[in-house]
Amino acid sequence: MKKIGVLAMQGAVDEHLQKLERVGATACKVRNKEELEQIDGIIIPGGESTAIGKLLATFGMMQPLSKKICSGMPVWGTCAGMILLAKKICDQENAYLKTMDILVRRNAYGSQLDSFVTTQKVKHVAEKEIPMVFIRAPYIEKVDTKVEPLAEVEGHIVAAKEKNMLVTAFHPELTEDDSFHDYFVKLC
Ligand code: GLN
Repeated sequence: MKKIGVLAMQGAVDEHLQKLERVGATACKVRNKEELEQIDGIIIPGGESTAIGKLLATFGMMQPLSKKICSGMPVWGTCAGMILLAKKICDQENAYLKTMDILVRRNAYGSQLDSFVTTQKVKHVAEKEIPMVFIRAPYIEKVDTKVEPLAEVEGHIVAAKEKNMLVTAFHPELTEDDSFHDYFVKLC
């Protein structure tokens, strides 16, 4: 059985752990380098990218995690997780893990009050439309040619894949639908 970690610095950790167990994977929290060595794939959850970024640096996890990802470990970043994986962030000089060739815009849909739910098909993930929950969400402004866009909402890319890296601007862990977690576990 695949063992999938959820980066547990801050954010929607438990929701991902529960979903992973529900689709038949073994799930565990990842807080340090030792735990990072024991998994087949990792989810970087939604939350606050600046907070998660600071904690990654404080606990000396920025480099080990980006190294693991660059060596091919499957990773899925949801919302803040997507921001952490991006090589570039609009209006911000520095990025965090800098592993995925995308330019993201933080809080692209406005404030917390502008959070919304929609449904949409996502390439490779499911034939049916799946629910998408956007909470102070980013979107992808630009992708490199090696990045495959998987879904768009109102003309903006909200899900994409590059090699072993998957990102979503929305939160599949907050819906009843299991398609995304199923898909990610199969990638691992
Ligand atoms: N707005 C948050 C950020 O910039 C992301 C919100 C989320 O993960 N739901 O980090």
